[in-house]
Amino acid sequence: MVNSQQLPAQEPLEPTASLLWPLWDLSAPIVQGFGDNAEFYKRFGQNGHNGIDIAVAMQPVKAMSDGVIRFAGNGAEEPLMGNAAGECILLVHPDGLQSGYAHLHSIFVEAGNTVKAGDVIAISGNTGATTGYHLHAEVLGYPLDLKNGYFGRIDPLPLLGM
Ligand SMILES: [Zn+2]
Repeated sequence: MVNSQQLPAQEPLEPTASLLWPLWDLSAPIVQGFGDNAEFYKRFGQNGHNGIDIAVAMQPVKAMSDGVIRFAGNGAEEPLMGNAAGECILLVHPDGLQSGYAHLHSIFVEAGNTVKAGDVIAISGNTGATTGYHLHAEVLGYPLDLKNGYFGRIDPLPLLGM
């Protein structure tokens, strides 16, 4: 018999303005939001775009919160990211949320590294499946629900205080 008192909390986290904008340029525009272009993303089994696309060329990318790097490299080598992400980073935060950064030009961290919120972890770029330079930033929910229509991703804007 399992004592539920001993199980880790599985309640979805309340959105809080706890994440940092992942770029130095605070005014770089979001050109594709979370859930946008449902018709296009249907073919990938998703209800819409699963992150935010920020129009920016090559610019320092910052960790959105403290955490440990889970993956850094080509997304083809990490099932949670995939080939389309190109050069990418997946960062695990202490609250169980994860943040992803895709289409990077260069990466300054490796799996196992501990980072602080605001640390520069990469330079944005144009790798993977893109139509131009941009940063794709995303947040994976906790508990992770890969069948939520967005492959586990949740809307990052409330967490960014936007
Ligand atoms: Zn995107």
